[in-house]
Amino acid sequence: MSITKEEISRAVSLVEIKELVSKCERCSLYATKTNDVVGVGNENADIMFIGEAPGKNEDEQGEPFVGAAGKLLNEMLAGINLKREDIYIANVLKHRPPSNRDPLPAEAEACWPYLKRQIELINPKLIVFLGRHATHRYFPEMKISEAHGNAFRTEKWGRKQVFLALYHPAAALYNGGMKATLVADFNKIPKILEKIIKEGN
Ligand code: URA
Repeated sequence: MSITKEEISRAVSLVEIKELVSKCERCSLYATKTNDVVGVGNENADIMFIGEAPGKNEDEQGEPFVGAAGKLLNEMLAGINLKREDIYIANVLKHRPPSNRDPLPAEAEACWPYLKRQIELINPKLIVFLGRHATHRYFPEMKISEAHGNAFRTEKWGRKQVFLALYHPAAALYNGGMKATLVADFNKIPKILEKIIKEGN
């Protein structure tokens, strides 16, 4: 079914977004999916994490970050006294790309209205990008090797928000140096959030 951007932008709840995704044929990935992987967590979350796309485990279980990268994410959350239920997690793509290949630009573009509406409905104080695909949705020019770990506030598409880019947990899994950097960056999240709240946003 051809669901339009306008229809998605009028969705009034995350449940409605899930319903739209379940009927979505805006790109070809619906044809090979097992499950939709729309998002999970607290719809009033202060922090929203955005990853790349579902992998095999996520496609099987219909939930983002449930495989090895998800285990690392859960560990890092526990390290700052947060649980998955405290935050919201979504991906750039809601359906798994075959063989876990990178999202194609046209797929990310087709799926973007869903993520945009999720962000609008949740209205998090802090948006954390996990990896370059998520970062580049918002900031196509940003080099994650330079930007990681440095939160910044900017206005994008009419609203001011604070953003933090991190290395992707899957990339860090087998690279000890990158993992140490990811964990150190991740541990900055409570202070960043405290500052946002103190500044009254
Ligand atoms: N990697 C992602 O970017 N997202 C997931 O949901 C799982 C792994």
